[in-house]
Amino acid sequence: MSYSAWFQCVNGCPGKYSLYDVIYECPHCGGLLEVKHDIEALKDRPPEAWKQLFNERARTTQWPYGSGVWGKKEWVVPDIDDENIVSTFEGHTNLFWAARLGEQIGLPDLWVKMSGNSHTGSFKDLGMTVLVSVVKQMRAMGKPIMAVAAASTGDTSAALAAYAAAAGIPSVVLLPRGKVSTAQLIQPIANGAIVLALDTDFDGCMAIIKELTKDQTLYLANSMNSLRIEGQKTVGIEIVQQFDWTVPDWIIIPVGNLGNISALGNGLIMMKELGLINKLPRLVAAQAANANPFYLSYQDHFRTKKIVQAKPTMASAIQIGNPVSYSKAVKALQAFNGIVEQASEAELAHASAMADRTGLYTCPHTGVALAVLFKLLKRGIVHSQDRVVVISTAHGLKFTDFKMRYHENQIKGVEAVYANPPIYLSPDVNTVRDTILRTLEQRGMT
Ligand SMILES: *Cc1c(COP(=O)(O)O)cnc(C)c1O
Ligand SMILES: [Zn+2]
Repeated sequence: MSYSAWFQCVNGCPGKYSLYDVIYECPHCGGLLEVKHDIEALKDRPPEAWKQLFNERARTTQWPYGSGVWGKKEWVVPDIDDENIVSTFEGHTNLFWAARLGEQIGLPDLWVKMSGNSHTGSFKDLGMTVLVSVVKQMRAMGKPIMAVAAASTGDTSAALAAYAAAAGIPSVVLLPRGKVSTAQLIQPIANGAIVLALDTDFDGCMAIIKELTKDQTLYLANSMNSLRIEGQKTVGIEIVQQFDWTVPDWIIIPVGNLGNISALGNGLIMMKELGLINKLPRLVAAQAANANPFYLSYQDHFRTKKIVQAKPTMASAIQIGNPVSYSKAVKALQAFNGIVEQASEAELAHASAMADRTGLYTCPHTGVALAVLFKLLKRGIVHSQDRVVVISTAHGLKFTDFKMRYHENQIKGVEAVYANPPIYLSPDVNTVRDTILRTLEQRGMT
């Protein structure tokens, strides 16, 4: 097999670097690196043959191809040894046809890609399987990597800790103290990572991790390391595969550090280059208004990168003011005729609660994406006959506090119209029966 992939500078500086080198930035300009594939070599298989191969492998137990990421190994890290792959058979998350929610908002063809139905409860698993596998291969090659390390808003650290534990590799995570949910904090603790809670925000943790990982024995696991992007790019391929290789009109995704939208774009572009699809969807980047640097840059036609001091948002995984993968995301937005829109705290809480009433169980980031969809639909930018996919990035179970506070009507500035607190009663049959009937009546359901 002659497929190959390497790192090169996003700004076009000369130089190709092995995926097994410890390198995160271009040595010439300091810009981000990206993984490039030998597309000509991949053209040895016609599009139909790739589709058939990917379909055959999907959800099997064949190591490592049953994974949604490694089922596309030739497009991800073609030359890694199968025995060094660290996988939980991530990917192949379901597409939820949000029929009732779609009906309520006048968008019958609405789908939610449930990326949070995953090993550690977020899409971060897709990237971490690739990064930790490459580290395992490097260690097998004798490279002196002592541990993997990441700054995190909660989900990266959970994924890193789990994959590192599965591989028997030490991991270190830096979290902004008090700014991740309890469920997210306990994940790396349980998986045995060295958990460091710092009195700063995510951007502060990121600055420290960048310094620490100048030491080559501590390997950087943030999405600034484009190995993560290679795994995460399979989400777009998977969506198209799930629609029997047809392309939706829109994909809406909540963004923070801007790695995932770049990944989504890369996967779709690779499919187009290799002839599996002949059109692209439009992409929408959804931001929390309290942490909206990308929205501000978009308003300014991407003339300059805006950096803000991110304010607290319930969408804590995207509380980021200085997004690392900015330049890649701008490219993606331009290639996909993309849009950036924002949602307030009240809007995200409302959208999330409304979706939950139709059977979803949304994390606040998915709430941001849905709130943005509602706006674009109202504005007539998204049309009622369009096929729309909202990427749900994490499992709602990680955000119990957010949901409790909503249903107890305790979120400042939010009128919790869907609040549904428990009714406390004495254990008396008649009281219970009366209460059920009265409540059904109140809700107009009798
Ligand atoms: C990481 C994360 C995001 C944002 O992804 P970026 O690559 O940082 O833009 C969105 N939602 C959830 C739940 C996340 O964990
Ligand atoms: Zn460069």
